[in-house]
Amino acid sequence: MRVIYFTLCAIINIAVLILAIYARRFTQGSQNKFFLLIVWDTFLSAICDFICTYLQVYAGAFPHKSTILFVSTTLYFIFRNFTMVALCMYVFFLTNFIYVIQEKSLKGRFLSVLIVVPYILNVILIVANIWTGWIFTIDENSIYHRQKLIAFNYVVAFIYTVFGIAVLIAFHKALSKSRIYAIAFMYILSISSVFIQFFYPHLMVEMFATSIALFETMILIQRPEELTDSSTGMFNISAFRKHGKNLFLNKNPASLIFIRITNGKTLLNALDYETYSECLTNINSFILLALKEQKTKGQLYHLQKGRFAILFKGEYTKRSLFFANHLLKTLPRTFKLKNITIETDYKICHTIYDNNSKNSDFNSFKELMVLAENFDKILKSEKDVITFKDAKSKEMLKQSVSIDSILMEAISNNLFEMYYQPIYSVAEHRIISAEALIRLKYDGKFISPEFFIPAAEKNGLIHQIGDFVLESVCQFIASDKFKETGLDYIELNLSVSQCMESGLADKIHNLTKRYGISSDKINLEITETAIDSSVNTMLNNIQKLSSLGFSFSLDDYGTGYSNIKRVVTLPLKIIKFDKTFVNEVNNPQMQIVLKNNIEMMKEMKKEIVVEGIETNEMLKVFSDYHCDFIQGFYFSKPLPVNDFCSWVDNWKKQA
Ligand code: C2E
Ligand code: MG
Repeated sequence: MRVIYFTLCAIINIAVLILAIYARRFTQGSQNKFFLLIVWDTFLSAICDFICTYLQVYAGAFPHKSTILFVSTTLYFIFRNFTMVALCMYVFFLTNFIYVIQEKSLKGRFLSVLIVVPYILNVILIVANIWTGWIFTIDENSIYHRQKLIAFNYVVAFIYTVFGIAVLIAFHKALSKSRIYAIAFMYILSISSVFIQFFYPHLMVEMFATSIALFETMILIQRPEELTDSSTGMFNISAFRKHGKNLFLNKNPASLIFIRITNGKTLLNALDYETYSECLTNINSFILLALKEQKTKGQLYHLQKGRFAILFKGEYTKRSLFFANHLLKTLPRTFKLKNITIETDYKICHTIYDNNSKNSDFNSFKELMVLAENFDKILKSEKDVITFKDAKSKEMLKQSVSIDSILMEAISNNLFEMYYQPIYSVAEHRIISAEALIRLKYDGKFISPEFFIPAAEKNGLIHQIGDFVLESVCQFIASDKFKETGLDYIELNLSVSQCMESGLADKIHNLTKRYGISSDKINLEITETAIDSSVNTMLNNIQKLSSLGFSFSLDDYGTGYSNIKRVVTLPLKIIKFDKTFVNEVNNPQMQIVLKNNIEMMKEMKKEIVVEGIETNEMLKVFSDYHCDFIQGFYFSKPLPVNDFCSWVDNWKKQA
């Protein structure tokens, strides 16, 4: 007597699996779609199997019973044989072998034909069985009989199993060990159940074993929790990476919209987890609704820290650009959550990818990811949707991607150079000092320190760059050229990581000793970000250097949170007012801030430098505010050391 219960359990198992897949919206992307196809195929096979067994074993005689049995058995064969093909294709997806097949080359075409031919032959044979009866027959008592060519089904299943395993072995590097074990287990389970059922047909464990294999795959390979945000249920950055990678492997055109909540990080820090997630979910729902309303097909992702991406597959450029503009205008700026009102603002970028076109904004996966995470740093725009307007944008993106190797090359080939920008003393009417500013010329073009210094901080090369700056500045101060300029000291920028170097004080002290320079010839500029990190090592460095006679400036004052406690407690000699004060000087509110800040600093016996002075008018304004020192393009842009010395020489002659 055949055991039908295994098949019944299989149907229940797979139904649960299907519900779970749809409930978790795990239906996007080729791999998911393929997995879903296998699950549905197994479900239909199990239903047909159940009907066949039920009719043979339990149902009494009724009209057309043999015909129904014949049809359901034929369908069972078609669906069941497809499972092995689909399983094999699933392995192709996991290992990315699918892209070799999809290539439009001769090899690609040959492989795709090779892969579909056995299944097509098998289907022809199964359909032809209606007339030939070579695979199975149903007799007048509705009893099923295997026929000789049934073996062909097994041969085809065997071929696809061999295909799948061969690709798995050849492309195993594309998969993690756990995934390889999971697929191997899936095959072992499926193959052994086929053998069991072949030798013990009454046991009928095949469908049950397949359903377990699918569950195992869902848990170990598909892992929906890896691709979705647990709190918002949205696709996360891993999903974006995965689907983004497929874009390049497929070489299909696509356009993308990147969205950043400009105060995303602040919200993350200020709000509790639930409120923050609710805020994201609201934005998510708004975008999904807008996509629906505009009849635009795009996949939405929440990347990280208030960054979103929408991927539009295919040539959708005009529509997606329209949608980006629509979002910029309509995205909600105010949320009322619990009892709090949250204000948000957005930056939006629109880019296109087309492997076959020169108009493609980016050409590699790395570029895509850099863009997704930094588009607003790489491409500048104030109001509109940010796009790649010119060749410079592409150049910037390329540099962002390869900045690590550029910096390594620059270090080994000495591509850095120090420039000096004069600083004018209002009281003494002379050039009293200069700020040392690093320059990097790569491929004939300058790369801004504002861009490469943060990158060097991230990759750790800042220490080598910082050493170069220290050495060059000391060399200059020790030279006769410097003495001839008559400058009192040089201002030198210290990066955040340098401030945290444990041996920094000794390093600077030893270097100045080696060059025979007194410590009052160097003023070290530190930023508020460095001070805010407030690590003991940094405080020790400042104290030690200060006791050795080095003075300190607080750079970019007015751009950060301007922590007054730090200004009071740290041994700062100079406060450098940032360019933003200069840009806003016509604003009456800013004038109040400026006047009072200057007075406050003066009372604390601090000296004041103003940066970014470009006109005579500005020079007059800030001199009247009693600033001590002025720096800016009005006097000179930063210059290479020899040009700088000649410039000072000329200035002295003219003065
Ligand atoms: P910073 O220390 O605030 O330097 C002042 C920046 O303002 C310089 O930009 C300078 O060229 C620019 N500047 C000066 N006067 C004017 C003006 O009148 N108008 C305008 N628009 N800009 C003016 P630069 O050289 O591009 O440096 C940018 C930043 O990179 C610096 O800001 C500093 O934070 C960093 N940096 C530069 N050189 C070094 C270095 O040797 N070491 C470290 N750690 N950082 C450096
Ligand atoms: Mg500076």
